[in-house]
Amino acid sequence: MRSLVVTRLALPFLLSCTLLMPFAGCRSPLSSTVGTTQGSLPGLGDLPQPPPLRGIVLHHSQSPGIWRGVKIDAERLNDIHRETHPDWLLEWEGKKYYIGYHYVILPDGTIEKGRPESAPGAHARTYNGWFGICLIGSFDSHHRQFNPSYPTFAQENSLVELCKDLMLRYHIPWELVKRHGDVNDTDCPGNRFPYEAIVDELRTFALLHREEIPPPPDDFRIVKPPPLHNHRSEH
Ligand SMILES: [Zn+2]
Repeated sequence: MRSLVVTRLALPFLLSCTLLMPFAGCRSPLSSTVGTTQGSLPGLGDLPQPPPLRGIVLHHSQSPGIWRGVKIDAERLNDIHRETHPDWLLEWEGKKYYIGYHYVILPDGTIEKGRPESAPGAHARTYNGWFGICLIGSFDSHHRQFNPSYPTFAQENSLVELCKDLMLRYHIPWELVKRHGDVNDTDCPGNRFPYEAIVDELRTFALLHREEIPPPPDDFRIVKPPPLHNHRSEH
């Protein structure tokens, strides 16, 4: 029973972004990346296709930074996902991954790797072809409060630097750096997440690097999948 597993782990915050996330897109995320004409289309055989449009989805863990003396980090999230969602297993280049995110940022600003950048994520329905970055913390005032309840200065700094790096290397427009709640039916990463300030920095950065970071195609639009009915919400 999943509830028993949760109890055994003594992690009551597990009803978090990471764990209620459906993984429908996880199985074949690269073919259902986003609702634009740039995704792979069925029935086109071996015709060369443009690479799927790739963006970044920002999350919080809706958890404390430390729980009963144990630091919540990428390794711990991987353990939790293995216990609660064994079906999220991804075997990639000889390694096993349960964590759904590509990166985790700890309250002290440390950036940890989750899944390899080349692998699909399991963090946002139909947007699992995008990078998933999770900040450890609980940034929504409507949910159970944990520390940190706001992103730390160090976390914000690291997040901006990580986004800049990914934007440069993968030519990601700032317009494609979205909150989880922008692409799925969820409040993640919470109403205390300073999205506008972060995007302001990324917009300025993109303008200074126009050659590497072009604007999104004209037909780009965010399409949210229909809300789920078998979970309370998508956190
Ligand atoms: Zn999320």
